[in-house]
Amino acid sequence: MTNEPLLLVDLQDGFVILTECKNIKIDYGLYSMMICSVIGEEIIATFNDESFFDVIGEIKELCSSVQYMEINSTGFDKKEEYADLMRKIASLLSMPLFDLLNTGHLNEEQLTVVTKLFVAEFTKHLCSPYSKFEDKSTYVPSALQNADFRTHLRSLMLRKMEGTSSILQREMDNLKLTATVTMVQGVPYTVYHVTNTLEFLLVDLQKYLTGKRTVKECLYCKKLFFPICRSTVDYCPLPYKTTGKSCYYIKRHTPKDELEGVYIKAKRQQAKKRDYSMNTVKYGMTVLAEIYEDWKKECDIEYAKARRTGDIMAFKEWVEETKFLKQRLEELVQLKGKKG
Ligand SMILES: [Zn+2]
Repeated sequence: MTNEPLLLVDLQDGFVILTECKNIKIDYGLYSMMICSVIGEEIIATFNDESFFDVIGEIKELCSSVQYMEINSTGFDKKEEYADLMRKIASLLSMPLFDLLNTGHLNEEQLTVVTKLFVAEFTKHLCSPYSKFEDKSTYVPSALQNADFRTHLRSLMLRKMEGTSSILQREMDNLKLTATVTMVQGVPYTVYHVTNTLEFLLVDLQKYLTGKRTVKECLYCKKLFFPICRSTVDYCPLPYKTTGKSCYYIKRHTPKDELEGVYIKAKRQQAKKRDYSMNTVKYGMTVLAEIYEDWKKECDIEYAKARRTGDIMAFKEWVEETKFLKQRLEELVQLKGKKG
């Protein structure tokens, strides 16, 4: 397991994370928003896995048989066994941690490298002489440990805080960060050497707070996000883990009333029939597309009419009558053929 720090090159609007194979850009504030959005109850649950405790037990046994200093020395005779256990724990942790941190803020690349930082912090913690195997609360990564701080972080990011904050000050006081400077084509850039999840958070937060961008809170899911344009200020564009759809998408696609619901559903169902493979093979895509377009034009007119008169029943009947059922579709295709 590597104990190398994560290198963050400061670009003035975000960082570039230097990794072995690739440089990954991450805007200021994204990491902090992600930390704010991690669900408290899910944190400990991430570590609740039996196979995980079995490996921890083995590590515990191995560690108790040797001195801490020995583990890192070159002459350590159980080095292979130890490295193997570390790899095992890392692979067991990666997936659940990736899932925990997948709040929609980071893309897959960013998430992968950040997950590695979380795993590295945990494995380092496990071999420290101060680690208490029995106390699960110590398993929680430093950036997620303090619930008060995370609540506080949220207000700070929304720029709702006034005056100085003692919680933040306490964390900042403990921060001892290494920074170097690197020259790229004659321009010097600051490089932060981040060794744990909390350090990353504090650097990111500082950069975000001294910058100009301000996050918004989603009215639906309460997550923080950067609005992309004026129309998305109330609902976030962050994809849900399960559906991949965002609150903004859902809001836009939720019918405002029953009539619109009937209209949207009718269009969806007719398009389905148009794309149905049995039909495309039988009639060809072009003629089906034309038939659908004709129907849609008429549908829009009928919908507008129903909106004016308030007669939903009439619209529903029209939709029912014009459905692309087998026989109707056959007739429409024939009609098209005659015309063409
Ligand atoms: Zn949302």
